[in-house]
Amino acid sequence: MFEDIVWFLLLIPGAFVLGWLASRLDVVHWRIENRRNPKAYFKAMNFLVNQQIEDALQNLIEAIRINPENKELPHILAGLLQRSGDWDKTLSLYNQLLHRSDLNDQERLKVIFSMAECYYFAGMYSQSSQYYQNLLNTSYRQLALKGLLRVSERTKNWSQALSLSTQLADHKTSKHHYWCEEGKLVAISEGAKEIFQKVIEDTPKHPRAYMELARWYADNRDYHSAFDTLWVIFENMQYYAPLVCCEILGYAQHIGQESKVFQAVEKLFQKNRCVDFARTLEENGHSKPSSGEYFMQMMRQSESLLAALLWVQPFNFLHDEQKLVHKILQHKSQDLDSYRCSHCGLVTKKFYWQCVGCKSWDTIPPLRLGEL
Ligand SMILES: [Zn+2]
Repeated sequence: MFEDIVWFLLLIPGAFVLGWLASRLDVVHWRIENRRNPKAYFKAMNFLVNQQIEDALQNLIEAIRINPENKELPHILAGLLQRSGDWDKTLSLYNQLLHRSDLNDQERLKVIFSMAECYYFAGMYSQSSQYYQNLLNTSYRQLALKGLLRVSERTKNWSQALSLSTQLADHKTSKHHYWCEEGKLVAISEGAKEIFQKVIEDTPKHPRAYMELARWYADNRDYHSAFDTLWVIFENMQYYAPLVCCEILGYAQHIGQESKVFQAVEKLFQKNRCVDFARTLEENGHSKPSSGEYFMQMMRQSESLLAALLWVQPFNFLHDEQKLVHKILQHKSQDLDSYRCSHCGLVTKKFYWQCVGCKSWDTIPPLRLGEL
């Protein structure tokens, strides 16, 4: 009994010492954690979440000052600076990071890639190319190839884009567009015709090369061939027919084939109440001035605001109130007659194969916003 009490008394200071040691360890751990992610870092993240970029920047700079060994913080800061368009500071930050002796090979490659991207977004394409080139024999090869491809597209170096696209493993190919762009560069020479014909052979289900080839024939006053080439789209790629219905009618007028085109457009319009078909039929129809009948058919089917606007277009509004209503209608529905990129949402009056906003290919449907 006495021995038990002695043991018990001895255990009390032992437990006290262990408790003290544990609390010391906690403090040390907290200090290490705090050094790894200083309070300024959390503040910066908080500002970032609230879109207060300037405050986030100041706190990140402070976090880097407290913890200069951290290799991730400069990347976050550089990303923020890049977002603000401060290219000089971003690049200088990456340069400092690149010359640090404690970077391993992989970390160094990451910095080089970030610099290539930064130069690209700053529009400094030759510097960007150089940095991407430095990554071609590394684990960043595929990313570097994609970067170089973007640079080639921006600088309209289509032959280089073609060569790069063949080296990319998982790239959704836009080769036919590169060929077409290359063909357009050689303009009316026979070389352009051969390029377009080759693209048609390679990608017979894409309409672009047919359209380019038809224009080539038209530029060379061969309207029969221009007509026949576009006719393939009318027969086999009707989704894209709205893009060419007006153009093919122009070629048809040269060779006396208008009625063939009218019949075809009329047939397509019955299947798809598309505004480009309606416009072609109204503007070039037999009744002058246009009766508005096709726009009316569109309205009956889908209450199309765009069709309504086109229907009232030829009216001669005399009273100020009428003019005001017309002006408001026009203003509110102006985008309906435009195209929209399905990737970035950019709205454009003109149709593009490559979106002028996000630079994606084939992301703009050939239909007006008012019809989608
Ligand atoms: Zn886009």
